[in-house]
Amino acid sequence: MLLEKIEALLQEVNNLHAQNAEEIEQLRLKYLSKKGEINALMADFRNVAADQKKAVGIKINELKQTALNKINELREAQAEADVTSEDIDLTRTAYPISLGSRHPLTLVKNQIIEIFSRMGFVLADGPEIDDDLHVFTKLNFAADHPARDMQDTFFIEQSNPNDVTKNVLLRSHTSGDQSHFMETHKPPFRILCPGRVYRNEAISARAHCFFHQVEGLYVDKNVSFEDLKQVLLTFAREMFGPETKIRLRPSYFPFTEPSAEMDISCDICGGKGCSFCKHTGWVEILGCGMVDPNVLEAAGIDSKVYTGYAFGMGVERITNLKYKVSDLRLFSENDTEFLNEFESAN
Ligand SMILES: [Zn+2]
Repeated sequence: MLLEKIEALLQEVNNLHAQNAEEIEQLRLKYLSKKGEINALMADFRNVAADQKKAVGIKINELKQTALNKINELREAQAEADVTSEDIDLTRTAYPISLGSRHPLTLVKNQIIEIFSRMGFVLADGPEIDDDLHVFTKLNFAADHPARDMQDTFFIEQSNPNDVTKNVLLRSHTSGDQSHFMETHKPPFRILCPGRVYRNEAISARAHCFFHQVEGLYVDKNVSFEDLKQVLLTFAREMFGPETKIRLRPSYFPFTEPSAEMDISCDICGGKGCSFCKHTGWVEILGCGMVDPNVLEAAGIDSKVYTGYAFGMGVERITNLKYKVSDLRLFSENDTEFLNEFESAN
């Protein structure tokens, strides 16, 4: 009878569980305290026949030991759970959330826009996927110009070689924006076209299959090359510092005549010559010129009444010069070590 009772308690003890420290204490009191179930067994133990005392005694000890172990086990589990929940300290200062920074190309593009905005230029936009008509034909590109070659430009569609509107391509310059703008606007206008452009180039430290341009166009009566030069000098000094000098070298572009490349004085050596400027004291930053009359006529603008100038620069080029970045692949690799360098810029 007593053995059965001990057996039942043993099973009960083995299945004990508790939600918290208080419940564990209740279990301890129920089984192991002076007035607990196990001590109560001792009263019955006295009445056990002498020949059974040994077996019953062992069983009671087993029960007591099991109860002790079980209670300790519950206490340990509870302590572990407590540590885990205490670990989440809601009052502790949060880890600092790192703020992103503007991409260096965006910083420089915005600065270019800001400088020309102060001189009256307004933004004009156009599609990145455009047709031959707007990217080449209206801009006076000869029919056999190499830019119209599949090897030079990313053509998406060339369904009819004789119809330029059927030739779809990734624009190779933002000048296409100017073609679109001139279709719907009459002079005078002064526009700035920033955007991404594409060229079929092998990717290297100095060339990429895509880059960014900002092009400007001003058309009005009596616009002269002098105006162009003054605007570009102002830009160079705003961008690279008030001591910056510029020089223009004759060049060729299909859409301007005359055309020029503009250099600025090397701000590393101050014009004396160093490895950065290839010992010339000058670094090239943009192309420019007077709008070719053919371009104005193609847009329905009377070239006898109106003249204009245009210029275009690579944002990567300006950024390289401003921040001395030697490899333009860095701009598109999303390396945060590199991008973090510009956190405090501007
Ligand atoms: Zn230099």
